[in-house]
Amino acid sequence: MQTYQTKDNIKHLEGNLQSLIDQLKDLRSKNHELQIKIGELEILLQVNSLTSQTLDRDETLEAMKKLFLSKFKLDEYILMLKTDSEKELEIASYHGITLDKGVWVKVDEKNIILHEVFNKGESIYISDLTSDGHYNFLGLIGRKGSLLSLPLISEKKTVIGILNLHRSEPRAFSNDEIEFLQLMTLHAAGVIDKTILFQNTQVLAYTDALTSIFNRRYFDQRYTREILRARRYKRNLSVLMIDIDHFKVYNDTFGHLMGDKVLQKVAQVLETELRRADVICRYGGEEFVVILPEIDLHNAYYVAEKLRNAVITSTFSGDEKMSGKGITISLGVAAFPENGDTEKMVLEKADEALYKAKERGRNQVVVADVKQIL
Ligand code: GH3
Ligand code: MG
Ligand code: MG
Repeated sequence: MQTYQTKDNIKHLEGNLQSLIDQLKDLRSKNHELQIKIGELEILLQVNSLTSQTLDRDETLEAMKKLFLSKFKLDEYILMLKTDSEKELEIASYHGITLDKGVWVKVDEKNIILHEVFNKGESIYISDLTSDGHYNFLGLIGRKGSLLSLPLISEKKTVIGILNLHRSEPRAFSNDEIEFLQLMTLHAAGVIDKTILFQNTQVLAYTDALTSIFNRRYFDQRYTREILRARRYKRNLSVLMIDIDHFKVYNDTFGHLMGDKVLQKVAQVLETELRRADVICRYGGEEFVVILPEIDLHNAYYVAEKLRNAVITSTFSGDEKMSGKGITISLGVAAFPENGDTEKMVLEKADEALYKAKERGRNQVVVADVKQIL
């Protein structure tokens, strides 16, 4: 049987259809919002998963920067971290700027934005730097565009640094973006804080408590790495084994506490004489070991002599009572590849040379297996 639609029926159907369309539109926009939320969650997940990739601070910062730059169009990215000094930040990671003024930034009233963000722990957004008196902030940021300055807040609610994001266009950050970037920065701060904590624990584990230089555990690891590097890239590397002469007598005469002070002073003297690339460690009781990357046996001898002289010319408490016999050191020198192919061989040669230096009367340098220098 054929059905004839009345006008009312058609109106009713149209109404239904319209409400269906409205529902679909609503769903589509909800779906869109959902897509955005999912995208954001994925980014946050990526931030947090950085901890599982590395615990090295600088590697983490590098990966973090790449993530920010790949997800957001940014002209400048500057991440600053708190240093030991309360009023200074270190520019630890950056993009889009050149650092001709060094990596240290003062947090004082002159850097008003930094000061505000750092002390209040709240982000600041400047939508148009040209119309804002703070445009010359840091002298790093371009004078145009928009700046979002975000505090890096640790889980313990302390500000550990600042992240500055800059776009050369004014009013370039939307409210939604700012809101999400705040959240992302919070997650980033948690990740960075973890790597810093880890690094600090490592520093403690590798530091000798008495002298504050590296300990034997650190030496073992570092020495292995340095020898591998020297072998792979065909570079020179020398090792100095150092031992304080007649230290037992010193201890017996002046007591252990004075002995400790001498150990600290010797470590300090040696460290001051060496270059930044050199690695000095306390090897054992009154023994030290130095790794000299890029230095061959011949030049290592001169470094050793320099150290020996530096100790002789330093004054130690008790020296005056030791009838002219102050603190002296004996040194054994060996090098890769001149004295051996393996880390063990080179170290043994340095140790043998040190033993010879003791035998020959102390306060002297002996070079492994190379008679003509002696
Ligand atoms: P040599 O010239 O042959 O090296 O003589 P030495 O007396 O230095 O060598 P020996 O190995 O006989 O004695 C080492 C001394 O170093 C004995 C020990 O009491 C002292 N010593 C080792 N570690 C420490 C330390 O942490 N503090 C102090 N005060 N003394 C230490
Ligand atoms: Mg000794
Ligand atoms: Mg000794």
